[in-house]
Amino acid sequence: MGKKLVRIFKFNSVSILGIGIIIGVLLIWGLIQVDEINQKLTLINFPKPKLFSKAITQASSSALKATNAAPTAKSTAKISIPQNFGRTVNVPILMYHYIGNNPNPIDTARDYLSVPPDKFDAQMSYLASKGYTTISLDTLYAALKGSASLPNKPITLTFDDGYIDFYINAYPILKKYNFTAISFIPTGLMNQGYYLNWDQIREMHNSGLIIFEAHTVNHYNLNNLSYDKVKNQLTQSKQTLQDILGYPINFIAYPYGLSNPSVWQAAKEVGFVGGLGTWGGTIESEGNIMNMPRIRIAGSWSLAEFARRF
Ligand SMILES: [Zn+2]
Repeated sequence: MGKKLVRIFKFNSVSILGIGIIIGVLLIWGLIQVDEINQKLTLINFPKPKLFSKAITQASSSALKATNAAPTAKSTAKISIPQNFGRTVNVPILMYHYIGNNPNPIDTARDYLSVPPDKFDAQMSYLASKGYTTISLDTLYAALKGSASLPNKPITLTFDDGYIDFYINAYPILKKYNFTAISFIPTGLMNQGYYLNWDQIREMHNSGLIIFEAHTVNHYNLNNLSYDKVKNQLTQSKQTLQDILGYPINFIAYPYGLSNPSVWQAAKEVGFVGGLGTWGGTIESEGNIMNMPRIRIAGSWSLAEFARRF
């Protein structure tokens, strides 16, 4: 009896020690995960998880819904993120760069950004067959401000950098499906090398399908520039496009997707009503209107992988 008790006691001691170690390891692992998530959120000026999941739940229940997210009185103000989502819509904004086979295979970074035309055609065909309707950023903005309602299954197509393959490869496919799209132009790089020229830009604008918006003048990382230089890049690109195309340029895509609250402030001061980042997500809100998420479309994706993203 005595030996049995000792054995049970020993067994329990070992068990408790073992369970204790497991719990300890799990706790430490959990803390690391939370820390990593927070670091990522800080890097991309991303809404805090609690608010974001709330936004997802609310937006998924309806394509367009006012959330009235409560102001967070306890916020630490350490992370520069929007604290109030306001009105929220679920609109995937797809982001493309090259629509073509990589003409420079040595530049492997370009593989990822290059979607071959046949794949792009299949993606557009998929969107058409599923009943998606392409909308402009102005329509998206109006929906966020409560002054427009969205079609069923709204989606926004965006193309960065103004490469000439947009005119040669993407534009005919967009015309085929009667899809509208937004092309973000770094104005100082046009008319040379692998970029569009202004005649092609005018022609596409006149079709009524393509809307051009700003992507700065020189495609610099705005986070590395002084406030005045940021304003200069924003103002000049906006003005150049407005002079050539004759309509208000309301949106800016930040080069490399990089921006911060100072950049957002500068963008607002020069008259932009919205900004686009490159962080992933489909929930657009009044709170992230100066740094809207987009879905980067990788050239390597199968159609099934494409369809899974939104
Ligand atoms: Zn770019």
